[in-house]
Amino acid sequence: MTEVKAPRLTTTSERLFAASQRVIPGGVNSPVRAFRGVGGTPRFIARGEGAWLVDADGNRYVDLVLSWGPLILGHAHPEVLEAIVRAAERGTTYGAPTELELRLAERVVATFPSLDMVRFVSSGTEATMSAVRLARAATGRTVLVKFDGCYHGHADHLLAAAGSGVATLGLPDSPGVTAAAVGDTLVLPFNDLAAVEALFDARGVEVAAILVEPVAGNMGVVPPVAGFLQGLRAVTRRHGALLVFDEVMTGWRAHSRGAQVLYGIEPDLTCLGKVVGGGLPAAAYGGRRDLMERVAPAGPVYQAGTLSGNPLAMAAGLATLDVLARPGTWERAEAFARGVAEAIERRAEDARVSVTVQRVGTMLTPFFSAEPVRDFAAARGTDRAGYNAFFHAMLEGGVYLPPSAFEAAFTSAVHGEAEMAAVEAALTSTWRR
Ligand SMILES: *Cc1c(COP(=O)(O)O)cnc(C)c1O
Repeated sequence: MTEVKAPRLTTTSERLFAASQRVIPGGVNSPVRAFRGVGGTPRFIARGEGAWLVDADGNRYVDLVLSWGPLILGHAHPEVLEAIVRAAERGTTYGAPTELELRLAERVVATFPSLDMVRFVSSGTEATMSAVRLARAATGRTVLVKFDGCYHGHADHLLAAAGSGVATLGLPDSPGVTAAAVGDTLVLPFNDLAAVEALFDARGVEVAAILVEPVAGNMGVVPPVAGFLQGLRAVTRRHGALLVFDEVMTGWRAHSRGAQVLYGIEPDLTCLGKVVGGGLPAAAYGGRRDLMERVAPAGPVYQAGTLSGNPLAMAAGLATLDVLARPGTWERAEAFARGVAEAIERRAEDARVSVTVQRVGTMLTPFFSAEPVRDFAAARGTDRAGYNAFFHAMLEGGVYLPPSAFEAAFTSAVHGEAEMAAVEAALTSTWRR
């Protein structure tokens, strides 16, 4: 009775990928897009329609990547589009302040109790880089503590994730990043409060800040264990260091507001991105007034950007947050994420495959492991070949998952019954009994 379908055609993607590799390094403008982790040809995308992606060969996929998080209302949401078009008709950039920036800043500050002020930038990389500069300036200290497997953008001093077990001097993750650039970055295992406390006992007076993804999303979704974030808050207060939450991914995703609201922690500084720009390039950093007033021109800490606060991005962000604030909207995105997590777990169990789905709000990762994953070492120990086979079978079945075992999948408020049926069908063809 098994229905035999012709495999999806990918000839156009293959041709475009070959041509791109001649003029763009690796054929892509951001590495994971190249499918190197999972193998195969990356799909070149022709358009997005709500919860769906359509590739250059005309294949349709339920999109569970959503541009790596920003599209919490799916592709081309009519109200977001209208806001962008209206803004574009008035000009695309001025290099001068606008009311749109004020309105989005007010909206962001009202969303997070820990934020009195916010500065918009164009990428999450800029947000974390600027927040670290501010933290060092405000404390007059140099050492930065981050966690193995947490990604904070590609600034030199944040490209250190090596080191495990005990505090180690960060080793550069990329050629071109000098030992000096990461020399003040200390890397500890995620969820290991004892390691943090030991480090502060030894070197607390040197530490400017702890920078952390409050729910790790860039090693796959790894929630904080009970007491971890509270412990970070307490140890930083005790030693006069700042706590910086990188909520570039978790903002409006781990919770209808952010992880800091979900877990009830007030960081000193917060980095935002992805959802805040509604699918256009915008990100932000913000926090307490006494800290943010140190940023130029209010204070001496320099940070600037030609396209910062871009009117199209501000309009897209505002429209997205307006729609998302309507009762039941965020909850629809979360319900879909819960449905996907349950479906994967149920089908995996039927097929006797060890999968542990970790989900917080609208972010989830199926780890090919019988055990929960608490840190990057554990994530690295999961069955990557298992994930890769799953990824390709689901793609063939019409579901676009992250092309890496160590990335989060995302859902939107426009994923509904038709998309859940498509996910179930793809799971059936993936794990035929
Ligand atoms: C995506 C991401 C960044 C980097 O943002 P870009 O806009 O890609 O520069 C930083 N931190 C976290 C937690 C992210 O998920």
